[in-house]
Amino acid sequence: MKTHKVKIGNLPIGGGAPVAVQTMWKDPLTRNLQPVIDQLSRLKQVGCAFVRFAVPNEDAANLLIELSQKSPLPLVADIHYDYRLALQCIHGGIDKIRINPGNIGARWKVEEVIRAAADTLVPIRVGVNSGSLPKELRQEPDISRAMVTAAEREMDAFQQLNYESIVFSLKASDINTTVHANELFAEKYPYPLHLGVTEAGPLIPGVVKSSVAMVKLLEKGIGDTLRVSLSDTPVNEVITGQEILGAAGMGINRPAIISCPRCGRATFDTHSFVEKLAPVLYGLEKNITVAIMGCVVNGPGEARHADLGITGAGKEIILFKNGEILRKVKEAEAFEAFVEELEKL
Ligand code: SF4
Repeated sequence: MKTHKVKIGNLPIGGGAPVAVQTMWKDPLTRNLQPVIDQLSRLKQVGCAFVRFAVPNEDAANLLIELSQKSPLPLVADIHYDYRLALQCIHGGIDKIRINPGNIGARWKVEEVIRAAADTLVPIRVGVNSGSLPKELRQEPDISRAMVTAAEREMDAFQQLNYESIVFSLKASDINTTVHANELFAEKYPYPLHLGVTEAGPLIPGVVKSSVAMVKLLEKGIGDTLRVSLSDTPVNEVITGQEILGAAGMGINRPAIISCPRCGRATFDTHSFVEKLAPVLYGLEKNITVAIMGCVVNGPGEARHADLGITGAGKEIILFKNGEILRKVKEAEAFEAFVEELEKL
């Protein structure tokens, strides 16, 4: 569904722009910013478009402003309760603000934030979360509708001030509630939507829940940015987000990986090969398919269909490129040979 376009730094969101994957920084910022900058570069490499940071106080706002001047990615300030922190971040040049107007307090405070954002064209994300709905909406039988009602209440201040550079998110920890709330919102409003299942859980259940919810929405054309909220690393959140886009047919310039689960027939240790190769693959901006297979049952077939494939074949390891056998190598040489061919693609 076509939504309004907003810009986070130079990055377009909505209006038909590719769906952007984001993540959230998991620790408080300290004066030692270099390791954060290094990690932001790694996040960019695996396909992260921008990163959100919690800003609980003035010191955190100052550190984020300093970080934003050296960051390889646009940054978002996540602010609750204190509107002055939002003003500080907007004036300090932060690329986007996320607020929950419901906990900012008096309407004039929200309006001050909106006016400051309008002066500098900083977009604001308004986050509605099923766990922090206003008291009177918590008893509603249909929580998805209650979430849309909460979003509508927040929208009012922006519409009164004619500020359109806004993104909404409607998140629940339950798949159906999240999907339904976003569907209802997208039917009525043209604002870009940030997708997420909130507090989705540890890696495996979190990936499953987020994938099911987001693919359902993305396939209907709903969603302009997404974050997979995991009790795991930001890098894994971004890799999962990219995989979800790939599963929904929206992957851009990222390798698709086919690898065999391995069984008693395997003559090649695909698990350790994939584990070693994954960090290389996730850093590549190439629209290719690679196959890593354990034996001749399915190996040659899958490897031939991939742009680059490798399979165990008895005592040999065979590399395939574009459907043809390229070379045979020993297991100890396989990784180096594969990466060498990968770079040539
Ligand atoms: S390709 Fe071979 S090793 Fe891999 S799962 Fe199939 S039969 Fe087992």
